[in-house]
Amino acid sequence: MLKRVQDKVAIVTGAGQGIGAAIARRLAHEGAKIVLVDIKSEFLSDIVQELTQLGAETLSIAADISKKTQVVDMVAKAKDHFGTIDILVNNAGIIRDGYLAKMSEDDWDKVMDVNLKGPFLCCQAVFDTMKSQNSGKIVNIVSRSWLGNIGQANYSASKGGLVSLTRTLALELARFQINVNAVAPGLIETPMTRSMPEEARSRLLRMQPTGKMGSVDDIASAVCFLSSNDAAFINGQILHVDGGKSCGLLSL
Ligand code: NAP
Repeated sequence: MLKRVQDKVAIVTGAGQGIGAAIARRLAHEGAKIVLVDIKSEFLSDIVQELTQLGAETLSIAADISKKTQVVDMVAKAKDHFGTIDILVNNAGIIRDGYLAKMSEDDWDKVMDVNLKGPFLCCQAVFDTMKSQNSGKIVNIVSRSWLGNIGQANYSASKGGLVSLTRTLALELARFQINVNAVAPGLIETPMTRSMPEEARSRLLRMQPTGKMGSVDDIASAVCFLSSNDAAFINGQILHVDGGKSCGLLSL
């Protein structure tokens, strides 16, 4: 069977768990060589072991994507090791939820640094390589929350900013045959959502048209499609993978 991203080199940030690990797993199944990035190397040991057993070529790098020097170093190591960088999946993200009056400046800054500045730095760091190859695929993981979500002023604004970054870079980089798209997950079962207060989780589930959370594999499939040449003429798009939640309010 033809694999969708055979021999492509893919960087996946936040690959240690949750959606990032599922994306790494899926791209590896489809033939890619994977650069796994997370803030601490110990977060990556399980997924590295799993992908190695699968026969995939991997490189694991500990880096904080909100720090330019660490991002530049990470991309240089990836390039040195594999020679090319074909796919960048900006997946790492954090939440620090709270209502406006209670949101600290630190919670605002941290979320902006990881969720918006991080992807900007990673895109900037891979640009020269993708430009010289005259090809590349960048997939940013945003969130349905970019449309607005109570208690998530920092998170929603960071993801809205990442939507704008996606659309702008899609225009800027198209002439170098670099596609920039985004996947906007709805409510997905991961360590991030398991850490939410039970009341917030059940409120979100009540608003979910499907009545259940999505899986990490639902997101990985969409990312794999956008990273492949099946999506060669798709650029600057935000693919909502949310069971229909972005279509409007449920009338119960
Ligand atoms: P997760 O389970 O928390 O995994 C994210 C990974 O990224 C963690 O290993 C995390 O480490 C790492 N990370 C955090 N900050 C980092 C940094 N500065 N540099 C490098 N790595 C860092 O999250 P997830 O639920 O899989 O979410 C993945 C992406 O999907 C995020 O962008 C999130 O906003 C988005 N998303 C998720 C959902 C959902 O329902 N789960 C819905 C919409 C969008 P730590 O554990 O130390 O933080």
